[in-house]
Amino acid sequence: MLPIFNESTGLLLQAIHFSAVKHRDQRRKDGTHSPYINHPIEVTKRLWDTGGVRDPTTLISAVLHDTLEDTKTSPNEILGIFGEEVLSVVQEVTDDKSLPKQVRKHLQIEHAPNISKRAKLIKLADKSCNLYDIIYSPPSLWSFQRRQQYLLWTEQVVAGLRGTNTALEQTYDEILFQGKQILKLT
Ligand code: NDP
Ligand code: ZN
Repeated sequence: MLPIFNESTGLLLQAIHFSAVKHRDQRRKDGTHSPYINHPIEVTKRLWDTGGVRDPTTLISAVLHDTLEDTKTSPNEILGIFGEEVLSVVQEVTDDKSLPKQVRKHLQIEHAPNISKRAKLIKLADKSCNLYDIIYSPPSLWSFQRRQQYLLWTEQVVAGLRGTNTALEQTYDEILFQGKQILKLT
């Protein structure tokens, strides 16, 4: 018999629906322009499968992790449906889009060691998924050098996230190792 559902399961479903609606007109940058929602679902699944994460706040925040940054979602919407804890984690993994891109990239490296454990878990899974995509299904317009730079940048961010979840860190390292071979960085 399957295990019984609980209130958190309902809230997770609500987050998936919320994120799907918010990202509905967006596509990923990969060659096939896959639906954007595939990405937050994949990040959440990686937390569950690889990381063994069972904390509902982390999983729900992972589903929502790109809504503030990449859609017109307001913090109040998240607060009203999912509460303060989820909002706080989503805000921690959201870049300040008013800043220039290079500054945002640098701030991610600087802030990584100081964010909450929940935010670190999400960033570990997010960087693993994005690095995997950059290696195996890159944006069609990206040069080889841009893919190399992206890999090296994730390595710097992840350096500040270590000591959080061994399995997630090992998986990231495996992807990094493969990526360095494929992108000729060894
Ligand atoms: P971007 O921030 O433009 O793109 C990467 C981000 O896009 C990811 O973090 C991810 O964020 C999202 N994304 C959407 N689809 C995909 C996908 N299929 N695979 C992976 N990520 C996807 O990249 P950067 O600006 O970091 O560029 C990488 C490097 O290249 C930088 O070091 C920069 O200096 C350099 N650069 C080079 C340029 C050039 O023309 N040569 C121009 C600009 C930068 P999320 O998970 O949040 O969706
Ligand atoms: Zn993401």
